[in-house]
Amino acid sequence: MKILRTKDAVKSFCQNLVNDKLSIGFVPTMGALHQGHLELVKYAKENTEAVIVSIFVNPTQFNNPDDFDKYPKTLDNDLELLNNFGVDAVFVPDNQEIYPLTPTLKLDFGTLERVLEGAFRPGHFNGVGIVVAKLLNIVKPHKAFFGQKDLQQVAVIKTLVIDFSFDVEVVVVPTVRDHDGLALSSRNLRLEPKDREKALTLYRSLSFAKAELLKGGSWLDIRAKVEADFSRWPDVKLEYFELVHSGQMLLMDGLHPEMPQSICVAAFVGEVRLIDNISVNH
Ligand code: AMP
Repeated sequence: MKILRTKDAVKSFCQNLVNDKLSIGFVPTMGALHQGHLELVKYAKENTEAVIVSIFVNPTQFNNPDDFDKYPKTLDNDLELLNNFGVDAVFVPDNQEIYPLTPTLKLDFGTLERVLEGAFRPGHFNGVGIVVAKLLNIVKPHKAFFGQKDLQQVAVIKTLVIDFSFDVEVVVVPTVRDHDGLALSSRNLRLEPKDREKALTLYRSLSFAKAELLKGGSWLDIRAKVEADFSRWPDVKLEYFELVHSGQMLLMDGLHPEMPQSICVAAFVGEVRLIDNISVNH
């Protein structure tokens, strides 16, 4: 497995793959890798002939400096995992390599980012869009792999790809969960052992709300019950619990079986902010 630290090294590595007529799969990550990331790598290996993973904790997508400073970093372990998984190359740039200049451009994804993560993390999707655009231009993959865990991010990236005519197929990979349902996340590493049970409230509430909705329950009643459930824990703070159109991210107030809908949640468990979502009808 090649470890590439510069754009030029990635470009020449990828040009050789193209010369050899190999299709390139790309998995962008912020490191602290877990089985969720490895599922993306597995999909990439199944769908393309050469796989490149990037590890870069992108400062421009953090609206909270403390969250950025405390983001887990486990590079040696990450590289070992990827090597064992048969990844062809890992791009590990430093900040200067990605941001030689502070970007002037600002991306606004319109209604897609007026809700959920976009509303609670101002500027987050500008940072995501800028870094993903840069990485797609450096790697020029045939397919890029993203997790359904970040549902709104998937919608944003699909828009980015269409609006900028990136020649890449976006592949969405289902969320990988722990045995008890907790969605795997790098931020889980920051959870105190005593907080794990509390963190499970996210998945339990999503499953409960989905089941109640499919039984014909009223969305507003269901959400009120979920809010009450969250308020049992003094150090758990629910930020949002919303029913949305899974692609357009429009907020909905009831079940519409003819359209794809998902329930999305974000909550602080202690100091750690977690998100999750579940698809309702597709
Ligand atoms: P991150 O390192 O958190 O930026 O995530 C990198 C990629 O892995 C993103 O496309 C995420 O959506 C995806 N991802 C993170 N957690 C999971 C998970 N539990 N299951 C599937 N994909 C995930």
